[in-house]
Amino acid sequence: KLQGKTALVTGSSSGIGLAIARALAFEGASVMINGFGDPQEIESIRLELEASSGAQAHYDGADLGDATAIEEMIKRCSHELTAPDILVNNAGIQYVSPVEDFPVEKWEAILRINLTAVFHTTRLCLPAMRQRGWGRIINTASAHSLVASPNKSAYVAAKHGVAGFTKTVALEAARDGVTVNCISPGYVWTTLVENQIPDTMKARGLTREQVMNDVLLAAQPTKRFVTVDEVASLALYLTSDGAASITGANLSMDGGWTAA
Ligand code: NAD
Repeated sequence: KLQGKTALVTGSSSGIGLAIARALAFEGASVMINGFGDPQEIESIRLELEASSGAQAHYDGADLGDATAIEEMIKRCSHELTAPDILVNNAGIQYVSPVEDFPVEKWEAILRINLTAVFHTTRLCLPAMRQRGWGRIINTASAHSLVASPNKSAYVAAKHGVAGFTKTVALEAARDGVTVNCISPGYVWTTLVENQIPDTMKARGLTREQVMNDVLLAAQPTKRFVTVDEVASLALYLTSDGAASITGANLSMDGGWTAA
């Protein structure tokens, strides 16, 4: 169904972004993937995506903390594939620390990668979408775009920013066939979650099991992690014609977390 369309998915070398890239490629989209990781692993992901879509899959290793690299990636995507019809802003990092000890460079990196990068990709991709009268911008926000947790000041600030930015651009693009939405997952089992377990253990003096059950899943009434494929299926739905009137929405997929 997405034959002839190009999707740029940031942070798609693992986790949620990879699942979204797979879902879009499976429907026939050409994809440009992005993110860090082992070059051989990334190359095998790229080949797998081409095999499943029958279209092209390209990789760009742009650091999303770098505005010039973002611009280069989008130029490359436009030359090698086409300008993105679907933009998925998914790259993100996390750091856990009480605010008074929060390293300034971590604050700045989180704001740059999780929020400012979304501004850059959006401003650079929107004109071509408008010109075609069709586009989909899907931002991976978080339950932390709606509620807070202690020790995540930069992440919560950035994700609230993504939610506000999403609404603003949705209004600006509303007449142009371009929808702009964010998906707000609760805890999804990916390396991003796995990696914050040691820091949370340290910050709160807990064991690994206590962090998983009493901290992470404590907030999630379903008591299970969201899966990357669940998030990908919502992203795929947002690209469909049936979702043409969903814009400016912040769609929760959090096992009931923000209902509590
Ligand atoms: P992940 O660590 O598996 O994936 C993050 C991706 O971003 C990777 O591909 C990584 O290489 C890439 N990335 C990181 N820094 C980058 C940079 N500077 N430039 C380019 N790429 C970079 O984690 P994930 O859980 O799949 O996270 C994806 C998104 O989902 C993030 O925005 C995260 O905040 C959000 N999210 C995750 C959860 C969760 O529980 N895992 C919950 C809500 C929201």
